Amino acid sequence: MSNTANAKLQIEKVKESRVSSIDFSDLAFGKTFTDHMFYCDYKNGAWQEPKIVPYQPMTIDPSARVFHYGQAVFEGMKAYKDDNGKVFLFRPDQNFKRINKSAARLAIPEFPENYFFEGLKTLVNMDKAWIQPGVGNSLYLRPFVIAIDSAIAAAPSESYRFMIICAPAKAYYKGTVRVLIAEKFSRSASGGVGFAKAAGNYAAQFYPTKLAQDRGYQQVIWTDADTHTYLEEAGTMNVFFRINDTLITAPISDRILDGVTRKSLIQLAADNDIPCEVRPIKVSEIVEASKDGSLKEIFGAGTAAVISPISAFEFQEQVYELPEVNEHSYSSRLKSKMLNIQHNLAEDKNGWRME
Ligand code: PMP
Repeated sequence: MSNTANAKLQIEKVKESRVSSIDFSDLAFGKTFTDHMFYCDYKNGAWQEPKIVPYQPMTIDPSARVFHYGQAVFEGMKAYKDDNGKVFLFRPDQNFKRINKSAARLAIPEFPENYFFEGLKTLVNMDKAWIQPGVGNSLYLRPFVIAIDSAIAAAPSESYRFMIICAPAKAYYKGTVRVLIAEKFSRSASGGVGFAKAAGNYAAQFYPTKLAQDRGYQQVIWTDADTHTYLEEAGTMNVFFRINDTLITAPISDRILDGVTRKSLIQLAADNDIPCEVRPIKVSEIVEASKDGSLKEIFGAGTAAVISPISAFEFQEQVYELPEVNEHSYSSRLKSKMLNIQHNLAEDKNGWRME
């Protein structure tokens, strides 16, 4: 179980907020950050005093292990504002559990639960003027931990920094997503770190994804590393397939990230009488289903876009087009249900919102 710690949160506020200088109608994702950031250092075997300070660059020794060995993990979550100005997080307990699961795999000490939630809630409240109301708008929250020892030996660090930074995010239409099914490269392997949000997992995806993009695909659908037979994830999203009226998604394993959106969609499907199977799914199954017309939808699921419908996939140099999405598609129905829960526009019978 997660530990708790008892130092008091220290707060230093900005003299003047930058929020009035921000053009929220023209925001590139992940480049603008709010007034404040949270951080807490680990040294001498313990997490030290947690702090909220003005957002600013920081000084880290060039020998810090994060730069050499990628000893780093992170999370991605969002805060939403309703029309009455109330602010909600969506299942933050899941992100807390996951960052500590990732940390354990990277030999990083677990972060105390009370520091995580007090830091998160205080920071979001201090910077809530940065959250625009309206479905699709949000504040993207990026908790992360890095190894900061000034020591280059290939061994776990003895000191770490846990931080949370916040970036306002807008709903934007990304266009259609065409994907390439991986036949050579892999995202993760059995016994590896695929289930963790380890920084290096993402660096390793950039090159194969760039090759796919050069060929006109936006993302790669990752398959199992041993045989490239089973469908696992879509870029940085979990992936769902609809064959006839049934949704199918792969079971979580040590190669697949346990996505909060994925598990919420499985529950929403059950709540809305949409059949959903969690089982291994072969590439050959969707190829056959596409040929006989029973493959109706493929979509990615993740915090960034909730659901990204996929319009076509390529496998073994064959392109398979999917039917167009309409308001009856599972992707449209489930996405609007999720957004309505996140933005306090619908009943939250599973208790996912945290004000
Ligand atoms: N898979 C990977 C590899 C991811 O990076 C993400 C984004 N965190 C997801 C799936 C979706 O997870 P979530 O729904 O928790 O955002």
